[in-house]
Amino acid sequence: LEAKFHAFNTKNGKSYPDVKYQNFRSKKRILVTGGGGFVGSHLVDRLMYEGHEVTIVDNFFTGNKNNVEHWIGHNNFEMIHQDIVNPLFIEVDEIYHLASPASPPHYMFNPVKTIKTNTIGTINMLGLAKRVGAKILIASTSEVYGDPEVHPQPETYWGNVNPIGPRACYDEGKRVSETLSYAYAKQEKVSVRVARIFNTYGPRMNLQDGRVVSNFILQALRNETITVYGSGKQTRSFQYVSDLVDGLIALMNSNYSLPVNLGNPTEHTITEFAVIIKKLVGGKNKIQMVNAVEDDPQRRRPDITRAMTYLNWKPKIPLKTGLEKTIKYFKDELNRQNIHGFA
Ligand code: NAD
Ligand code: UDP
Ligand code: UDP
Repeated sequence: LEAKFHAFNTKNGKSYPDVKYQNFRSKKRILVTGGGGFVGSHLVDRLMYEGHEVTIVDNFFTGNKNNVEHWIGHNNFEMIHQDIVNPLFIEVDEIYHLASPASPPHYMFNPVKTIKTNTIGTINMLGLAKRVGAKILIASTSEVYGDPEVHPQPETYWGNVNPIGPRACYDEGKRVSETLSYAYAKQEKVSVRVARIFNTYGPRMNLQDGRVVSNFILQALRNETITVYGSGKQTRSFQYVSDLVDGLIALMNSNYSLPVNLGNPTEHTITEFAVIIKKLVGGKNKIQMVNAVEDDPQRRRPDITRAMTYLNWKPKIPLKTGLEKTIKYFKDELNRQNIHGFA
């Protein structure tokens, strides 16, 4: 069967990564919103390898068709170029709802649009799930905890968000997204899963997204000054993207419907992080403190007891391993774009 499948996949002269054969009963029709983005495209890879039928919907605001180009033309893959703020009528069994800008510069670029995507867009996806009886997983965020007064953050913590600050379009947007999910679950019996995702990094991150991982790697590779915002004493905990994909799939397939933190509890200050990246890249650049950003959360680390208990999930990839893979991707990508001609 597998040989037949491979032959089938190579029609039109294009060859595709091998995918598993799924029989009629186990093959699912899966929608990934934001499937052209960083996390979405890795999730698409995993679902395609498992042999499912995968449709992505994306407006390519922050995503990129290159992230999924290896699947274009494959019989199990479909790409819809659409804004999820507009209704979408298709037939699916599961929805991973990831469409939303994720990095602070991107979500602050057009705050009204960020709010619409996370409210109207989420209503549309919940409406779709309700109509077709699909299970839906919402990509929420550790930002629902705001600048947390409880450390590490368990899912039972209600958070500390400034409702009118520059991050509010995203934080409050995601909070409403969660509220909508449980309203549809209660009132319309939609089966919902809510993942509270903590800082995630890996290949296919948008090089220009302005997040700390991409900024520091680019600065180190280009021998520029590494810019630490504020004191550098603020902390984050970074998870590698394959761990997140494992967690998202485990959550979708579980019977657990309350929010679940997905993140790596290994915590570093941003200054420590700058030093780690500089060492791994092998640069001699300076690390400099520049102006702090408004409402920057000071500490962030997930309490992952829930994920360990109900999903039997915990992250596996150590920071050094994940960063090495990410640095390699950034080098290759810079070469490809011929921006700097790194050998
Ligand atoms: P990303 O920007 O790479 O991907 C988001 C995708 O959604 C992009 O392809 C973008 O074009 C698409 N999109 C945005 N608005 C849209 C709209 N209105 N209609 C259709 N498509 C739209 O970001 P990512 O890091 O892959 O994040 C994916 C999801 O995970 C987001 O919902 C984000 O909030 C959440 N999340 C990510 C992180 C992280 O560290 N990466 C942390 C917490 C939560
Ligand atoms: N919706 C969608 N696709 C569907 C079903 C619904 O995009 O397959 C949208 C629909 O346009 C509506 C939203 O989802 O705006 C919420 O749907 P719901 O059924 O909850 O609300 P209603 O249509 O009753 O306002
Ligand atoms: N940061 C930094 N230098 C940069 C980019 C970010 O010091 O060039 C800091 C930022 O102020 C925050 C942390 O790194 O404290 C993580 O920022 P990021 O934008 O990656 O994600 P956040 O977790 O804030 O959403």
